[in-house]
Amino acid sequence: MGLEGHLITIEVDVGDGVPTFTLLGLPDAALSESRERVKSAIVNSNFEWPHRKITVALSPAYLPKSGSSFDLAIATAILMSHGLLTADSMTQTIFIGELGLDGEVRPVRGVLPALLAARAKGITRAFIPAANAMESRLVENLEIISVDSLTQVHDFYTDGVVPESEMPARFTPDISLLLDMEDLVGQEGARRALEIAAVGGHHLLLMGPPGTGKTMLAQRLPSILPALTSAEALEVTAIHSVAGKLIDPAAAIARPFVAPHHSMTAPAMVGGGVHFIRPGAASLAHHGVLFIDEAPEMSPGVLDALRQPLESGEVTITRSIGTITYPASFLLVIAANPCPCGNFAGKGRGCTCSALQVRRYLQKISGPLMDRIDIRVFVDPPSRVDMLQTALGEDSATIRARVESARARSLARFHGLGWSLNSEIPAKALRKEFRAERSAMNLIHDELERGLLSARGVHKVLRVAWSICDLQGAALPSLENVEEALSLRSSVKVGI
Ligand SMILES: [Zn+2]
Repeated sequence: MGLEGHLITIEVDVGDGVPTFTLLGLPDAALSESRERVKSAIVNSNFEWPHRKITVALSPAYLPKSGSSFDLAIATAILMSHGLLTADSMTQTIFIGELGLDGEVRPVRGVLPALLAARAKGITRAFIPAANAMESRLVENLEIISVDSLTQVHDFYTDGVVPESEMPARFTPDISLLLDMEDLVGQEGARRALEIAAVGGHHLLLMGPPGTGKTMLAQRLPSILPALTSAEALEVTAIHSVAGKLIDPAAAIARPFVAPHHSMTAPAMVGGGVHFIRPGAASLAHHGVLFIDEAPEMSPGVLDALRQPLESGEVTITRSIGTITYPASFLLVIAANPCPCGNFAGKGRGCTCSALQVRRYLQKISGPLMDRIDIRVFVDPPSRVDMLQTALGEDSATIRARVESARARSLARFHGLGWSLNSEIPAKALRKEFRAERSAMNLIHDELERGLLSARGVHKVLRVAWSICDLQGAALPSLENVEEALSLRSSVKVGI
């Protein structure tokens, strides 16, 4: 349920009476169909089907159970109770997998969190589908036997045959799969904004006409974020496992980049479902980047649904089957055209939109969502000089090294305070111990008095200035740092 695992005990009784097959313990439709799959799998694996009164009970009975992952356990228990399979003990063992009608063991969702929960409850051995073997490599101190068929489970107990596994010994996040900043020519301003955002975990608005490379920039943000810690990698993989996104063995998890289309619905964005509550895009982007292109095209309700994860770093969904919480802490990048026609650039050349149309269009992303955006940059089309350049841009590894040392500085400063990133400094702390240099504070107060900055804007500027200061390695944000932070919000006049 969510990322939590519960042990389910399967009991089978094969008794005298009219041949029936009864399943007890709150099964949903997919689980009820388990009867047919299990029966066919046993018969087609050349085992004898007991033509007797079969009762299968799944306990604890109060937990709603869904899906097909109990098939393998049910079939194994039936083989045992019918005397077709003998084992001294299976008490410390779990069985996970869906059965095909031919007895094949098929992959299921959520194997990784299931194994973690099992290990925590004293399980020492797990049979899992071979196709899920990759994610299982993240779990240590648990004997994992990956099987392709029901016959392999039988042979393990009867003849001691351990199925061969072709999976790599260790599953490690692959950072080399990420797109690299060196592919981007020019775009100095936007590159700098991305680096500052990566240091402080600042949400970001990229505004510019189509074709200026907003998507290319956002796609490369994960590559300059610090590498995932092993605890973070485990969490990210567990979410992808529950969403069924790991069945492709090529899917190695680095910092995720998730780019929902603007037609996405609210349940797809934050999670939902009836029989099974699946994680949404916001949770799949956990510890990574959530990129919303053409944000004003998205329905306001869907953008609004992001408020909960932006505030709390998680999503809680309540349905009749229960309440589930998924982590959803991501760096948000929003991209927008400057106007509905998209041609408003420079001196507004080629734009056919009226002032009212532009205002209405941009208002769609204003409000609660914009309150969370610390950095706003205008992305210009690459200049002709940029296009002719043959040299590559600075590579991601170099930038990432700077981001990592800047983050180490802020982390040391925040030791014991309960937050870890500059974007998380509470307003109260900004007024007291996290002010900038005197001259810089004077500039901020000037802007405030002239009405160029709101109280909330002051806090954002200070947070961003701290990230710039950390990149520089200075002790306190200087006037220059604050000026740069101010330029990272005023370059886009969104009227917000
Ligand atoms: Zn226009």
